[in-house]
Amino acid sequence: MALTDWMAATRNLALPIFCKLCDRRLLTEDNGFFCPECWERSPRIERPFCSMCGRPHRGAAGFGFQTNFPCAECRAKKSPAVRRVFGAASYDGAIAEAIKLFKFHDKPRLARPLAALMEEFAAREVDCPSYALLVPVPLHPVRERERGFNQSRLLAQAIQQCFPNAQLDESLRRIRPTRVQSRLTGERERRSNIAGAFAVMGDDLNGKTVLLIDDVVTTGGTVEECAKALLRAKAGAVDVMAVALAGYASG
Ligand SMILES: [Zn+2]
Ligand SMILES: [Zn+2]
Repeated sequence: MALTDWMAATRNLALPIFCKLCDRRLLTEDNGFFCPECWERSPRIERPFCSMCGRPHRGAAGFGFQTNFPCAECRAKKSPAVRRVFGAASYDGAIAEAIKLFKFHDKPRLARPLAALMEEFAAREVDCPSYALLVPVPLHPVRERERGFNQSRLLAQAIQQCFPNAQLDESLRRIRPTRVQSRLTGERERRSNIAGAFAVMGDDLNGKTVLLIDDVVTTGGTVEECAKALLRAKAGAVDVMAVALAGYASG
């Protein structure tokens, strides 16, 4: 037993820990917060899903569709800056709770199990060698100081090994503070909150293909705005990868 495992086991005996979702006692510190049952039950995104926004096609399961295709909403979009979005899971169950703990309750060690979900998905669905840059969605420096870390950077660092040709690039910056998008209700309010909030500092990106890393994609407004800034800095194409996609019925 490695020393860190032994320390975790000892701590668990002295101070039992329980699944944050079902209150079952955790016997190992797999991810330290959720039992394996709750973790496994949280819905992963599987084929068929939209080849642009990444959301599962509701009702398509069981019809033998193995090939992904764009949803009606994406087919109607006029030249979005984001080429495609990959989401490993639905924002639901233990995974949603884990993301909230991770970023709002100062639990950076949840980056590891959340990144593992992205890695599983990437191995199945993503052409990993095609990306030259992994770019975390930046926080405004004030918020990052309050939180102590940028959750997207921790995720990007944790999955970097799956992308043999990609470098971590942090030249994308949030140049003005914004409010939390998911707390705004109106479409117009969300758009003006985030418009022009990002810029690439330093050299341009020379036609490189970017994979933008975020924890949760909801309406896609933030990643779209990031992608515009990356394309202005001459990125070749911008795709997005998130732990979870929210804002749709996952049932
Ligand atoms: Zn549980
Ligand atoms: Zn779509």
